[in-house]
Amino acid sequence: MAEVKKVLILGGGTAGWLSAALLAKLMGARLDITLVESTQIGTVGVGEATIPPIVAFNQALDIDEQTLVERTSATIKLGIEFENWGQVGERYMHAFGSLGKAFAFCDFHHIFHAAKEQGYSGSLWDYSLNYQAAKAERFTPLTQIPGTQLPGTQHAYHFDASLYAQLLRERAEAMGVTRIDAKVMQVSQNNKGDIRALTLDNGSEIEADLFIDCSGLRALLIEQTLGVGFEDWGHWLPCDRAIAVQCELPEGHSPKPYTRAIARECGWQWQIPLQHRMGNGLVYCSRYMDEQQAMTQLLENLPGKPITEPRVIKFRTGQRRKQWQNNVVAIGLSSGFLEPLESTSIHLIQTAIIRLVKHFPHREISAEARDSYNRQFSTEMAQIRDFIILHYALNQRQDSAFWRHCQSMELPESLTQKLELFAKTGTVFRYQDELFAEVAWQQVLLGQNCWPQQHHPLAEQFSADQRSELLASLRTLIERTVAQMPSHQDYLGSLVKSAKQGS
Ligand SMILES: Cc1cc2nc3c(=O)[nH]c(=O)nc-3n(C[C@H](O)[C@H](O)[C@H](O)COP(=O)(O)OP(=O)(O)OC[C@H]3O[C@@H](n4cnc5c(N)ncnc54)[C@H](O)[C@@H]3O)c2cc1C
Repeated sequence: MAEVKKVLILGGGTAGWLSAALLAKLMGARLDITLVESTQIGTVGVGEATIPPIVAFNQALDIDEQTLVERTSATIKLGIEFENWGQVGERYMHAFGSLGKAFAFCDFHHIFHAAKEQGYSGSLWDYSLNYQAAKAERFTPLTQIPGTQLPGTQHAYHFDASLYAQLLRERAEAMGVTRIDAKVMQVSQNNKGDIRALTLDNGSEIEADLFIDCSGLRALLIEQTLGVGFEDWGHWLPCDRAIAVQCELPEGHSPKPYTRAIARECGWQWQIPLQHRMGNGLVYCSRYMDEQQAMTQLLENLPGKPITEPRVIKFRTGQRRKQWQNNVVAIGLSSGFLEPLESTSIHLIQTAIIRLVKHFPHREISAEARDSYNRQFSTEMAQIRDFIILHYALNQRQDSAFWRHCQSMELPESLTQKLELFAKTGTVFRYQDELFAEVAWQQVLLGQNCWPQQHHPLAEQFSADQRSELLASLRTLIERTVAQMPSHQDYLGSLVKSAKQGS
């Protein structure tokens, strides 16, 4: 059997260009990579908030922070603030990074919980360096809190998706990827069902050994051609529409270093601040709200003047029954979609490419590699899915039928087990390779008022006085550390300035 040498990537959105750039970087010497995109069709045009692993992925592509901030209007993201998700008027943050000080077998929140039982009235987020920096709108990258062994800040970015794709395209083309701007008109298969070639609207036909379907929600190869089917998760994640619009930054305000996710009557609104504008959108459930109502609600709640026409995006939450079928691997929106509440899609693109590289066929595509790839994708998706459902399931709002429905919906067994364990014992068990760490789950659970019945016995290794002393010293340390950070705006400014000086 001939070697897999020719790879064709269909789609030039974030998925297509990330796949092209990472594949070229990791396997470019062996492969001949072509990317076909249609500027006439365009991209989905959203997807501007990320999570911390992106820092390492960018480094792998030689995109340093200075370049990213200068080229994509990026800002720093320290977490996501959730407003109105427990009761209307409440807010909490899923802040990246750690909480307080973890002890062996006893996470910090158990100690906090024990202190609460003895009357302590502070907030858990007093012990999150990321949260305190986010609210003070300050930032500097820190691996550790100076003078201690305690972990420092952890950050991700907000960026302009089209500028990020442009940056990735430059990297990919410099590494030898060929780009063709044309529309796929026809897909030809051989007698085994493998895709043989794509016919383009410029009349040419392109053959390849392996096709990566990054055609977005259209899923042109994996679904429209191979018909793998879709596992619908709409009964757990009922939102199925988004309206996206960009607006000016509120007058006199600098961009905040965190995303806002504000629960509304039948869904939630995102606010993603970039250096020069803000991305906004309303994610909602079309069974409970029509498009006109959603449009009005979004536009009434914009923090600045709109600068683009609002766009409606219809989506289904769930995953393709297979992401790798025959010689097609679906990456990005074509492979499935979890709604954007925890900004996980770009991350899923990155892990998909790494997984593809690990399973990359030498002489033939084996059923074993495909099955392993598909199994790993499903496990990853299900774990993230449960974390997103958690936010909806834990709401206590009584103001709309939508939120009451979310309280009563049946949950996946895996999530029910996690919830019951935490409610009884305060323990979150993280499975190997699970994306969201224990502290992420703890913040959502506690932020939405799910207090456990007990704390861990090891929290009692400290006397009440020792606990108070520990909490006070940690709090002071975090306050002092944040006070010494530059403002978020100054941090970005220094990166842009030094990029200009260097060019
Ligand atoms: C409302 C919403 C908000 C989101 N927010 C976030 C977020 O904050 N963070 C996050 O990580 N992710 C987010 N996502 C997901 C994120 O937008 C996507 O994962 C990311 O943009 C990748 O999209 P894509 O490249 O798969 O698809 P697209 O951007 O749609 O690209 C598809 C490509 O395929 C091409 N194409 C399609 N058909 C043809 C054809 N026949 N011929 C030639 N070319 C063709 C198109 O031209 C285009 O280049 C969000 C998604 C939605 C819907």
